Amino acid sequence: MQEIHTLMKKLLTAATLLLLLASCSSADKKTVYACPMDCENGKVYEKPGKCPVCEMDLEATKR
Ligand SMILES: [Zn+2]
Repeated sequence: MQEIHTLMKKLLTAATLLLLLASCSSADKKTVYACPMDCENGKVYEKPGKCPVCEMDLEATKR
């Protein structure tokens, strides 16, 4: 039964790593601001404001 025990340990380690990775990537998602018309080809800003191209208010989106 030693092999099964080792396998379980490996699975648990893998699951823990996956959970850590998942929590990390979700924490990375922050709110950014982009022009609703996408004037600048997906360019985003850290803070709300106006698009320098069309002067529209930037929209908050999650990255
Ligand atoms: Zn714009």
